Amino acid sequence: MLFEQKVNLGVGAAYRTSEGKPWVLPVVRAAEKALANDDTLNKEYLPVLGMEAFSNAATRMLLVRTAQLLFKAESGHVLAFGVQTLSGTGALRVGAEFLARILGKTVFYYSNPTWENHKLVFKNGQFLEAENTVIGRQDPRFRPRGVPRGSQKCPEGAVIILHACAHNPTGCDPTEDQWKQIAEVIREKKLFPFFDSAYQGFASGDLIRDASAVRYFVQEGFELFCAQSFAKNFGLYNERTGNLTVVSNNRAGCCSKVTDYSDHQRNVFKPSEPWRKDRPRMCDNIRTMSSRIIEMRTKLREALENLQTPGDWSHITKQIGMFSYTGLNEIQSLNMVKKHHVYMLRSGRISMCGLTPSNVDYVAKAIYETVT
Ligand code: PMP
Repeated sequence: MLFEQKVNLGVGAAYRTSEGKPWVLPVVRAAEKALANDDTLNKEYLPVLGMEAFSNAATRMLLVRTAQLLFKAESGHVLAFGVQTLSGTGALRVGAEFLARILGKTVFYYSNPTWENHKLVFKNGQFLEAENTVIGRQDPRFRPRGVPRGSQKCPEGAVIILHACAHNPTGCDPTEDQWKQIAEVIREKKLFPFFDSAYQGFASGDLIRDASAVRYFVQEGFELFCAQSFAKNFGLYNERTGNLTVVSNNRAGCCSKVTDYSDHQRNVFKPSEPWRKDRPRMCDNIRTMSSRIIEMRTKLREALENLQTPGDWSHITKQIGMFSYTGLNEIQSLNMVKKHHVYMLRSGRISMCGLTPSNVDYVAKAIYETVT
């Protein structure tokens, strides 16, 4: 029997409109039309590291202000370049294999919980796994704890995966202060930071803000990798569009393709004319998505508080990005599914994209009935 009010909050990491439909970003549609009409383009092979204009733009999107800072700073030796990859997963895999096969790294740390594919991707890239002791398991309301003691155990040189923003699955990002503490531990333990940036812009609506942790590490002089996915922020899920940004202090160790920030005057990152025009539209489209999610967080919290649902629901609006850990336990989550047909994970995780103005009150009421 079909249950009229069923709500799917277990959906994967894909944006849905307030009508629950997939959305092709208008800026992407416009670009596709322009490409289809451009007879000067061809389908020739690309260089081994991919399309330079694309990977430069991707790297610039991540590090842009840091690049200027670095240019002004004395450390003119920081280099960054991008490698075009098959979406964010491909960037993680290429980076992991390089670190394991070329640099001989064997141990990687991940946060607990983390995106389920991190372990698989790194283990297929010849790594042994280890739980992340830097950002530990978060408290019942999933506030990041900063840096707990366990970090003592990290073997020197191990790789640590860091969610650049919008931590998946908890929606809890470290504060600026906690990032500083994390950076200190990483420096002390000589770990290699490997950022995973799957939600730049999608989290706060601001591309610059969502990459601030990565730029902080670059400013602090760390060498790092950053896997970039353009699935969410450009809505390009099936196109597998990604980039691996490499930041290195070793001029000699970098290949000839490297873009040197100290050569800023050469304008190596100069964006093409169409991109300049499309950037504000792109940012607008990103804000449409992030604002809808933020609005749903506010509405859900308000509805829960209006019902006087027992407990503190402020974490719903404090969390960021696509996912939310509701704080419901396994039994409660199963009750949501069986009794109310609100489909969600046993861990209490919901995808905010599944919430719409027409189902948010129903979901709040189901939570209320579940916890009372
Ligand atoms: N990292 C995280 C944290 C993610 O949530 C995702 C997608 N769900 C990815 C990486 C990779 O995404 P994709 O390969 O589709 O770009």
